[in-house]
Amino acid sequence: MHKSMMQMPLNVSALIQHADRHHGNTEIVSRRVEGDVHRTTWRELHTRTRQLANALTTLGLEPGERVATLAWNTHRHLELYYAVGGCGKVVHTINPRLLPEQIAWMLNHSDARVLFFDANFLPLVEVVAPHCERLDHLVVMTDRTHMPSSSKLPTLACYEEMMDTASTQFDWPELDENAPCGLCYTSGTTGNPKGALYSQRSTVLHAYASALPDALCISSRDVVMPVVPMFHVNAWGLPYSAALAGAKLVLPGPALDGKSLHTLMEQECVTFSAGVPTIWQGLLHYMNTEGARFASLRRTVVGGSACPPAMIRAFDEQYGVELIHAWGMTELSPLGAVGRLKSKHLGLHKDVQRKVLEKQGHAIFGIDMKIVDEAGAELPWDGKAFGELMVRGPWVISEYFKHPSSPLRDGWFPTGDVATIDADGYMQITDRAKDLIKSGGEWISSIELENEACAHAAVSMAAVIGVPHPKWDERPVLLVVKKPGADLTREDMLDFLQGKVAKYCIPDDVIFADSLPMTATGKVHKLKLREQHSAHLTPP
Ligand code: ADP
Repeated sequence: MHKSMMQMPLNVSALIQHADRHHGNTEIVSRRVEGDVHRTTWRELHTRTRQLANALTTLGLEPGERVATLAWNTHRHLELYYAVGGCGKVVHTINPRLLPEQIAWMLNHSDARVLFFDANFLPLVEVVAPHCERLDHLVVMTDRTHMPSSSKLPTLACYEEMMDTASTQFDWPELDENAPCGLCYTSGTTGNPKGALYSQRSTVLHAYASALPDALCISSRDVVMPVVPMFHVNAWGLPYSAALAGAKLVLPGPALDGKSLHTLMEQECVTFSAGVPTIWQGLLHYMNTEGARFASLRRTVVGGSACPPAMIRAFDEQYGVELIHAWGMTELSPLGAVGRLKSKHLGLHKDVQRKVLEKQGHAIFGIDMKIVDEAGAELPWDGKAFGELMVRGPWVISEYFKHPSSPLRDGWFPTGDVATIDADGYMQITDRAKDLIKSGGEWISSIELENEACAHAAVSMAAVIGVPHPKWDERPVLLVVKKPGADLTREDMLDFLQGKVAKYCIPDDVIFADSLPMTATGKVHKLKLREQHSAHLTPP
């Protein structure tokens, strides 16, 4: 076939080159692990990225070899993203909140020989490294002054010293666009974690699609602060889409409490942010107790677990900030759907608009989705029928890293989420399949109940689990964390739910807790809750 267009492979190095050439003076601001706030630009970052690529070359890594990181969101982690991926290696980001044995398992599974880590993770690395035989380069992401004074580990290299001796001259290789550039493991709450290996092409296409107006709508006029960590699913691709758009990037480092986030947002005039609901819960609490305001923040994306409608409303009504509900998965790089209004919704009452925005939203271009029944037959898009959500697209995995069998079913990736899709194409997650509650043959959505419970003024967090029941197989039980000083009884809570959900969905009991167990990715650990409360409805 005659090819009339240029064959330019999609490589992640093109993103940083573009940011340098067209937005070179735009800033990248990081709160560092050392405690200070560091400032650089896309141009300087590109120069340092080339230095780092040279430094990596001296380590003699093979193409596609994994370079692991245990690090917060900072400029050095960003340099690693581009240097490692740009020269054809794979940046294997690791979540430091996982257990040491899980981290060691991942490092061994990915065969990593090099680990870059923030100085404050030294105690963790000291526990993990002895279990990883292949690991022979340990690099502390700091300068000589802040290097740990002593360590149980034999040799620790210093990041800035590696950089000092490396040349800034480096020509990015033209790589096969299907070559890998990133690796992230699912958190593996059951069984061993599984790795999603992202390609150059999938990463660039994901950056394109996620920056679009009806997706995250990122432009060069934005100041983007990813609170979502760079150690889990590429901080939802923002380090790449910010470069593509030429946006200013603000990286919050390890300080993720409400006060620190708000201070940095105000200092750097952040317009756009992204994170899981628990992060926004913390920020909202801080704003309410301090009577603080946002001067520049306009939009923030919330995903990773269902965002309670009460939170969307609070941000909008009290602070004029649009909370954008998005859905994704590690296996989708991660973005799949985003909740934005269509023009037909613009003239409608705010409450009607809210109902639309509470859903997880529209598939972004590149992602195709459908819902299926247990036999695999496609279900109608009527907003009522619910079934397993299946997706496909160029940034969806077709296989797990070094895994014998493909997860695909007839070319589609089964998400394990149960959802509805309405006639306008808005998808709404009912539950994770394993969290759906089956009571006397009826399905009960834990998310629906949690959303209603969170609307009570005294509720800080809510989680609903299915608990074994002698008559109904399973019944819902609601766990509630009250707001500090709030007065709430079991009866108040159950009365509040009456009329808001079907009668058979009203929980059998309410358990008050000081806090809820969380997974390493900031979600309520329902598996643990089910284990803890498995006998709650069984008579002794
Ligand atoms: P893990 O936390 O297990 O590593 P992911 O971070 O990939 O995995 O989580 C993906 C899952 O998170 C989805 O399959 C879905 O169940 C849940 N999820 C993500 N976004 C949302 C959302 N907006 N609403 C409800 N559930 C969500």
